[in-house]
Amino acid sequence: MKLRRLAATLLAAIFVTAGLQATGIAPASAAPRVLYYDASQAQEFVAAVNQGAQIWNSRATNVRLEQVPAGRTPNIRVYADNGWPRTYTSSLGNGYWYMGREAVNDGYYVPRIAAHEFGHILGLPDRRTGLCADLMSGSSAPVSCTNANPNSTEVAQVNANFRTAAKVPAQTYVWAGAPAA
Ligand SMILES: [Zn+2]
Repeated sequence: MKLRRLAATLLAAIFVTAGLQATGIAPASAAPRVLYYDASQAQEFVAAVNQGAQIWNSRATNVRLEQVPAGRTPNIRVYADNGWPRTYTSSLGNGYWYMGREAVNDGYYVPRIAAHEFGHILGLPDRRTGLCADLMSGSSAPVSCTNANPNSTEVAQVNANFRTAAKVPAQTYVWAGAPAA
């Protein structure tokens, strides 16, 4: 009786071990690149910044935006001021951006601005198509536009950027007005 129970226990242990090994050899999907962002200086826009990050996280598969843990240098810093929203990239996935009250006070949808500015950090340029369906159309879409989601082309471009670690030149993007030359 005792022996049989021991045998059963051993057999169970073998199955567990085999199961773990099977998991170990399962083809792992490539982990997304994690970018840490610091929204602690985004003032009244912290929630909107987090929302913008979540929008990308729910769509892009090759990159993930996470709040920076204590003691770690962020890839992205987010600020707020009274100017236009704008982004300063240094390389793909790195830079800083401003939530600007000039656009917020004009009535532009804040989560759309946040997702748009993160889009620049993820390697997307402005495409002023005037279409609300395009996230990167930015201020060229009507002020009433409340679409904060990237379209499938924009998501595909971001995934491609991080799959190939695309080289993106340092650049400044401004929500409205003439882009900084
Ligand atoms: Zn822009």
